[in-house]
Amino acid sequence: MAEFSMELNEDQRTLQEWVHGFSENVIRPAAHEWDEREETPWPIIEEAAKIGIYSIDFLASAFGDPTGLSMMIALEELAWGDAGICMALMGSSLAVAGIMSNGTPEQQIEWIPQCYGTPGDLKLGAFGVSEPDAGSDVSALRTRAVYDEAKDEWVLNGTKTWITNGGIANTHVIVASVDPELGSRGHASFIVPEGTPGIRMGQKFQKMGIRASHTAEVILDDCRVPGKCLLGGKEKLDERLARVREGKRAQSQAAMATFEATRPAVGAQALGIARAAYEWALDYAKERKQFGRAIIENQAIAFKLSDMKVRVDASRLLVWRASWMAATRKPFLNGEGSMSKLYASETAVDVTNDAIQILGGYGYVRENPVERWHRDSKIYTIFEGTSEIQRLVIARSISGIHIK
Ligand SMILES: Cc1cc2nc3c(=O)[nH]c(=O)nc-3n(C[C@H](O)[C@H](O)[C@H](O)COP(=O)(O)OP(=O)(O)OC[C@H]3O[C@@H](n4cnc5c(N)ncnc54)[C@H](O)[C@@H]3O)c2cc1C
Repeated sequence: MAEFSMELNEDQRTLQEWVHGFSENVIRPAAHEWDEREETPWPIIEEAAKIGIYSIDFLASAFGDPTGLSMMIALEELAWGDAGICMALMGSSLAVAGIMSNGTPEQQIEWIPQCYGTPGDLKLGAFGVSEPDAGSDVSALRTRAVYDEAKDEWVLNGTKTWITNGGIANTHVIVASVDPELGSRGHASFIVPEGTPGIRMGQKFQKMGIRASHTAEVILDDCRVPGKCLLGGKEKLDERLARVREGKRAQSQAAMATFEATRPAVGAQALGIARAAYEWALDYAKERKQFGRAIIENQAIAFKLSDMKVRVDASRLLVWRASWMAATRKPFLNGEGSMSKLYASETAVDVTNDAIQILGGYGYVRENPVERWHRDSKIYTIFEGTSEIQRLVIARSISGIHIK
């Protein structure tokens, strides 16, 4: 019988301390500045690249942990420092995930390093799915990819929106329709390499939170990429489309499973924000005196902190469970990936809100980071599937009914 333990192993503890140190000493002190500047924090990314956190090796070794926990631990610590900077460091991994899930081994070797670069020559990746009329409903996307056989090139046209690192990335991974009649089963992913004509940044968005992470439209206007930029290759695409046209189900279940497996990583970041806010509020409540006693001596405050701590720890358990299930290839029979993202993100919104309440006026001003943490937390209930979409996934999984 396998031994059960909830203790981290030595490698995981070392990783946690190392990432926490970087977060505490480099990320957190810089967080306010980059939130105000609303720009990609290049000097911080450079620091992270120098010590190996912004690198393919880091991603590979953290995701390579057979228990599934290492990446969750690292993301919690990074987001504890600052969620916007964490997103600036992790945005390229979205492109890597797109290449990993659809690319051939040769494509992975060629393109993944181009999403990161090296210290002194940093690169960014971006993953573009969402469009103005296709957010939760990805099947509605309109960006078209048409094959020009004579030149062995794909021609991409369309507008992507809300894209992390959009337009400033060196490598864009773009999801486009090759056969609009087939809905999401007619989609394919394309690499748009650095310097390709026909791709440009549209509007850069000014956001409520995670403002150190760049978010913009990406406009594709007769953007031509070589045939080799179709992830997975043409032969595989043709076979897949033929199967769909014959009425056989094609891979949509596999795609859903991939999504489910990446959701704990989003939950882990929300958890990092929630923990930061809880810790800050706890310290403050012990220090702040009103009516001649520390405010924590009032049940109204102490009970709030109790509830915050319970939710932070419950979020971590859900995130770790889902990530462990994904790493050990256990099927998500009840939408466990969605559960972790849903619970951790809503916890982050509520806990940061409670932290502001505990700090009173001091929580509402920029002198303290809790107002920023509250602003940052909200995005986690929206991107990578809104809370409503997570509930839909869970509801369908537990009921077996196609709930709308
Ligand atoms: C900062 C930021 C970064 C992002 N980064 C990326 C990125 O890198 N790449 C990328 O491709 N996308 C990215 N996105 C897009 C993000 O994934 C979408 O915003 C998200 O999927 C929601 O889509 P939407 O905004 O169009 O909302 P909509 O889909 O229009 O939803 C609006 C509301 O309707 C609800 N709703 C929709 N359908 C249903 C339903 N069936 N049942 C119940 N309720 C429903 C939603 O839950 C939501 O409350 C990013 C977004 C932001 C804000």
